[in-house]
Amino acid sequence: MSVPTIKLNTGHQMPIIGLGTFLSKPTEVQAAIECAIDVGYRHIDNAFIYQNENEIALAIEAKIKQKKVKREDLFIASKLYCTFHDPKDVRPAIVKTLENLKDYLDLYMIHFPVPFVNNGNLIPKDENGDILHGDVDYVDTWKAMEKLVDEGLVKSIGVSNFNKYQINRILKESKVVPANNQIELHPYLLQDELIQLCRQNGIAVTAYSPFGSPTRPWVNEADPQLLKDPDVIKVAERLGTTPAQVLIRFHIQRGIAVVPISVTPSRIESNFQVFDFELSKEDMELLRSTNITHRSYLLLQHSSHKYFPFSENYEE
Ligand code: NAP
Repeated sequence: MSVPTIKLNTGHQMPIIGLGTFLSKPTEVQAAIECAIDVGYRHIDNAFIYQNENEIALAIEAKIKQKKVKREDLFIASKLYCTFHDPKDVRPAIVKTLENLKDYLDLYMIHFPVPFVNNGNLIPKDENGDILHGDVDYVDTWKAMEKLVDEGLVKSIGVSNFNKYQINRILKESKVVPANNQIELHPYLLQDELIQLCRQNGIAVTAYSPFGSPTRPWVNEADPQLLKDPDVIKVAERLGTTPAQVLIRFHIQRGIAVVPISVTPSRIESNFQVFDFELSKEDMELLRSTNITHRSYLLLQHSSHKYFPFSENYEE
């Protein structure tokens, strides 16, 4: 089965479901991607900070060698890390990623609008253990990203975790409209206004953490759990699907791409089986009614920075 796609504003097609690769241990990610490609996934969501580009390269190389897939049928996305926001660091950053992946990239996104100091460390910290933030304006970073397209280093460029104000600034102050904004999205966090702004401007949206990232290291026992939500389970039971399939399908029916992660072969497979059933209007409404504006990725360690995207206190 070929995966339905979303047409980006660059004319390129992005498969509507992709495999996430964050928190996958290097030893697990290669097997997970190989399994995903066998099952039919054609979109891999990666980032420099996930520190597993070499394993991703190995998985893709193996599947191409086995003639399971051609490179041109795959959509590989990666992200510019926060230490590389200085315009002079943007090109070397993508070159490093391309070297690690031994391949070209379909989509390269600014991972997060907040810059870190580039002192050679992955997580630059001061003597108190606090993250050393920088002050590079993400619009300047974006202008350096634009040059990557001109140079043919990547097919499409986008952003991730940008809020409405930040999207509007990019639209007003630069030349290229982002092809994509990758954001946390699920029934507990609907982000309707941000999606609408993206849509109005031809920016595709990708949902990350579709299950609310249940095994994130900072999870609290008291946190709400999407996969165990009674309404999600109710819809799944009605349709004879898993709760995970319902949560993935929720985005597909909104025309939003989604990048669930699993390293478990049976789940990689079942998470892809979301094209042979439909959520009714009532199912969609019931899922939407569970909204509690809950973020799994609060990233509060950056909350005092002027470009922190998840504060409501920014001007339109
Ligand atoms: P997620 O996809 O919401 O949840 C992943 C967890 O759900 C894993 O622990 C997985 O366990 C479990 N799971 C998967 N399928 C399941 C199923 N069918 N039934 C029950 N449990 C299931 O988590 P996420 O990693 O936060 O988000 C997914 C991807 O989004 C990331 O990998 C990354 O590519 C992207 N992301 C992007 C950003 C950004 O800033 N742009 C931030 C976070 C994430 P098993 O592996 O054991 O199956």
